[in-house]
Amino acid sequence: MAKIPHILLIYTGGTIGMIKDFESGALKAFNFDKLLKHIPELKHLNCTIDSASFDEPIDSSNMNPKYWIIITEIIENNYEKFDGFVVLHGSDTMSYTASAISFMFENLSKPVIFTGSQLPIGDLRTDAKENLITSIEIAASQKNGKSIISEVCLYFEYKLYRANRTTKINSEHFEAFASPNYPPLCESGVHLKFNESFIYLPRRSKKIKIRKKLEENIVLLKLFPGITENVIKSILEIDGLKGVVLETYGSGNAPSDKWFVDLLKKALKNGIKIIDVTQCVGGSVILGQYETSVQLQKIGLINGKDLTSEAALAKLMYLLGENIPTSEFKSVFETPLRGEMAV
Ligand code: ASP
Repeated sequence: MAKIPHILLIYTGGTIGMIKDFESGALKAFNFDKLLKHIPELKHLNCTIDSASFDEPIDSSNMNPKYWIIITEIIENNYEKFDGFVVLHGSDTMSYTASAISFMFENLSKPVIFTGSQLPIGDLRTDAKENLITSIEIAASQKNGKSIISEVCLYFEYKLYRANRTTKINSEHFEAFASPNYPPLCESGVHLKFNESFIYLPRRSKKIKIRKKLEENIVLLKLFPGITENVIKSILEIDGLKGVVLETYGSGNAPSDKWFVDLLKKALKNGIKIIDVTQCVGGSVILGQYETSVQLQKIGLINGKDLTSEAALAKLMYLLGENIPTSEFKSVFETPLRGEMAV
């Protein structure tokens, strides 16, 4: 008889487990035991569940790479004991965290599903129960004794996405996330419908590698018409700066002003890595399609293709921590490593 899957539920904080502060009326994180009491349904799932929690659950606006390492270590220390992991996380920065975790685990062969909710679990109209219960069901879904999912995903409002393809698009709707450049991996209706041709196939023979060195001296710079030379110069001259995710227009276009291109050139010469991503919600950078990106291509900007800014930041932090020789950095960055970008 097949073994019942064993799932680890990791609670980091977020609206899902929040209650209203008596005095201020603001939502704040509360203790995990109380959270589990609100979901007696969990006992009826076809899996066993253990839980782990941050000592102090946080609103995900306080998330940072130190917490990413804590999440990584909880999974690492329990990797052999469990068949899958569900991480409860605030929705505000969930795409950043889940993208980072996807890079921190190489050769993952078990599901890591991030989820959360727009309304606290105790609220009458909460979306938390469906998100949580289905995430656990997906993490426990197996075919021939092996997990169907073996990558880092994000589940929200009936859809499972590859995590490093997601972005938060709405602060009020239950459908808070989108994956503009990659289809959902599973849709939940009466049945769970897995979209098998888009799911990552693990290389189970390869040993899992876990990376915890992340470079934090990077910046996300969004262009807008009228951005001044002084602003760009000040940012590119930040002491110790190692990388920039440059959010450009449309298919990767930027002003052709000489001062702008010269500043980028100088930064590249100083070893700063600059990634061109589009500030559009969907679509891809295509360097050289317009005259306004030809210069960027010539001076050697890294093509972020169809990366989300969240995934670009995470990939940059990860690869800068890997001591990749300068001559190889651009081609390594432009290669999909965890299904985060088009080939
Ligand atoms: N502020 C909350 C958080 O990200 C929002 C949420 O959980 O949806 O922690």
